[in-house]
Amino acid sequence: MAVQAPLYAENMCGVQDWMVNPAPALIPSSYFTLQDRSRYTLPFHLQQNAHNLAKIQNERLRSALREQRKRQSAILLKCMESKAMHLIRQKEEDLARATKKTMELEASLRKAETESHSWQNLAKAKEAMIMDLNNKLEQARESLVWVSNAPEDAESLFRDQQEGEVKQKSNSNNKMACKHCNARSSCVVFLPCRHLCSCKSCETFLEACPVCNSIKEASIKVFWV
Ligand SMILES: [Zn+2]
Ligand SMILES: [Zn+2]
Repeated sequence: MAVQAPLYAENMCGVQDWMVNPAPALIPSSYFTLQDRSRYTLPFHLQQNAHNLAKIQNERLRSALREQRKRQSAILLKCMESKAMHLIRQKEEDLARATKKTMELEASLRKAETESHSWQNLAKAKEAMIMDLNNKLEQARESLVWVSNAPEDAESLFRDQQEGEVKQKSNSNNKMACKHCNARSSCVVFLPCRHLCSCKSCETFLEACPVCNSIKEASIKVFWV
């Protein structure tokens, strides 16, 4: 007795649903007795056909599974490739931004170095100008000191001249003083040595010249005009 197999639609992969999900038993096994089971047993050639059919369907199922795995792997690979490409693009954009930023910073650094160089040159020029002004100021101070000291110098020179004259006059007076009493003026010339060396009072008791100690042979009185 043949059992009518239920109809199952094939899915898109060509796999029948009853192969993936076993069909529910049309008749619960508890309903069958041993006699019923022997009555439902298929003949050998039908069992062989069913076995062959199951084998074929199994192969088709395996093939479909392989295809599905391959498709899923391809989809996954494509998805990963897309993500990787997206990441690579992002990294390339980041790299481009970083390169641009680096170039901008390098340009700023070069500009800052140029400005620093120009400021240093300006500072050197200002320093040289300050030194020049200091030198001029020092020269002006020296000139001012010389001008302020000039009257003092002239005054001291005049004073020195006066002192020299006084000293000369004093020396002259000393020379003219009597060499014996050193108080009165000399007015007598001793002979033969001709020294004007004694006053009139001292000459009367001097036997020799008080300068060279030569014996007085004669004396001459002189008169100052
Ligand atoms: Zn005298
Ligand atoms: Zn004398």
